[in-house]
This record gives sequence, structure tokens and C-alpha cells, in this order.
Amino acid sequence: MTIIDGKKVASEIKNELKQKVAAAVSKGLRPPHLTAVLVGNDPASWAYVKSKESASHKIGFTSSLLHFDEHISEAELLSVVHELNRDTNVDAYIVQLPLPKHIDEQKVILAVNPLKDVDGFHPLNLGKMLAGLPAFLPATPYGILELIKRYQIPTQGKHVLIIGRSLIVGRPLSILLGQKRQGGNATVTVAHSKTQNLKQLSLQADIIITAMGKPLFLKSDMVKNGVVIIDAGINSIDAPQTQRGYRLVGDVDFENVRQKASYITPVPGGVGPMTIAMLLQNTWKAYTLQQGLSE
Ligand code: NDP
Repeated sequence: MTIIDGKKVASEIKNELKQKVAAAVSKGLRPPHLTAVLVGNDPASWAYVKSKESASHKIGFTSSLLHFDEHISEAELLSVVHELNRDTNVDAYIVQLPLPKHIDEQKVILAVNPLKDVDGFHPLNLGKMLAGLPAFLPATPYGILELIKRYQIPTQGKHVLIIGRSLIVGRPLSILLGQKRQGGNATVTVAHSKTQNLKQLSLQADIIITAMGKPLFLKSDMVKNGVVIIDAGINSIDAPQTQRGYRLVGDVDFENVRQKASYITPVPGGVGPMTIAMLLQNTWKAYTLQQGLSE
């Protein structure tokens, strides 16, 4: 059984990017610039944005954070987005979700310039992905594909079960893994909360990817021997014996399922670190497109 070390792979990707940035800067170019737009004071959103900022700086990107009060109007936020689209010093930006209820997230996503859309949420990027054209892939699915690739896990002809169908994880993955190309060619089943006989499906699956947000949901009696497990879930559960009072777990009952798995990602340290690495990879891509460089 191999534990997939997402932290190590993410760090390799970040080192590769760091070298590319250094090479560009040594030629007199400015470094890539990533902006994060944050509305309100949700602690999880703050933590994500801060870790994206710090990861950017470590590899030589510059970054900025535009923070707005939760009462910002939709029109004001849209004008911020339009300004970022125009700003030639900003290669890429993300609008941290969720947004407050009075703002239509779809309207904001549609306003993002697809060439700077490093979250890959704009329908143009989603459509290109569907058509198998070069596009910004959403960072978590992209990170999962990269883990599968770097660990040389075969997908061709395999039965992949994805549990969770959100637009940011499960659905894009189902498209990418089913595509006719290297790293694809899988037979994909997508399960969700209305799926019946999930255990019957999971017992047949060669690769199971969970993206549910249900702590320790997948148990060892639900998987077959030799299964590959990729767990995107991040859940906080009470742990009174720890200093913080909680601990992070995935959607998979890791300690038991690992006994049957051939490969498995831990939480934390599996998919999570890859998401930020792939966001940086997308930012590098946006930069090269705008500077007319090769990736
Ligand atoms: P969503 O809540 O948007 O989607 C959850 C999905 O799981 C839905 O499709 C839902 O079905 C399905 N689901 C829920 N309960 C069950 C069940 N009992 N059986 C089968 N399917 C079920 O979540 P996200 O996709 O945004 O996130 C999922 C998890 O991944 C979360 O823990 C989140 O924190 C984590 N995450 C991790 C990232 C990372 O960097 N590693 C990035 C993004 C998310 P239905 O559609 O019917 O409601």
C-alpha cells in the first residue's frame, strides 16, 4: 500500500514553478501577479486566501488581496472585477467563494475575464474542458489528475467511482477521467446523495474519488482489495484530547480503508496541498499567455 504524498508532489510543482519564475525575472520580465478578492470575514475563506498569498510569495509571484466589507453591493463588486480584467499588471485572480447571499455568484463568475480565470469556473473554461481544448482546469480536479499522473496510476479501462458531483470537484473530474486521452479512458460513475446502492457501486470500483464533505463516510466494507482511494473531503471533527479541540479528516475512514487499498491519499496532506499548487500552475499559465511566453 502506498500513501500518496500530496504535500511532496505539491512542493515539487512549486519548485518547478519557482525555477521558471526566476528564469523569467532574470530575463528582465516582471514576476506573475495573482490577486485574491475576498468579501466578508469568513474564517475559512481568510485562511484559504492567506495560504494562497503565502504560497505565491514563496515561489516568487507577487500577489495582492482586495478585501471588502460583506455589505459591498453586487454592482460595486462587478466593477472591481471589470477593473481587474483591464489591469495589465494582474495576470490572474480569484474571487473567493462563497459570496454573501445578496450577490449573484454566477453573475460574478461570468464577469471574470476567462484568460485570468485561474479557478476555471467561467463557463468558457468549463466548455473548453468539456471539448478537450486547452483551458484553465479547476484546481482540485487538476490536482487529483496530477497526483494520478505522478504516481503512474493507470486509469485506462478502470472503473472510477466519483462520489460527489459539485462543479468544483466531482463533475469536472468525471469529464476529465472519461476523456479519450492519456490519463483518461476510464469508465466513470458519478454518485451523489440520491444514488441508490452506493455500496454495490463502490465494491466494484477500481478507483474511488470522494468529494462529499461527509467525515469518514467510506468504510472498509465498501471497497474491494487493491482499490485506489483519492479523498478530496476536508472535514473538521471534535477531538477534545487535542490542543485545538478538533482535527481534520477526509470522507474516507482512512485507518481502516488503507488496509485494503493499493494507493490512498491522507487528509490532511493529500489532495489539499495540490489545490494550491495547481492554482499557482494556472497562474503561471495565465502569465505566459499574457506575456506571450511558452509554458
Ligand atoms: P458540495 O457540498 O458542493 O458537494 C457535495 C457532493 O456530495 C454533492 O454532490 C452531494 O450530493 C454529495 N453527497 C453528499 N452526501 C452524500 C451521500 N451520503 N452519498 C453520496 N453523495 C453524497 O461539496 P464540494 O464539492 O464543494 O466539497 C466536497 C468536499 O471536498 C468538502 O469536504 C470540501 O471541504 C472538500 N474540498 C476540498 C478541496 C481541496 O482543496 N482538497 C477543494 C474543494 C472542496 P447532491 O449533489 O445530491 O447534494
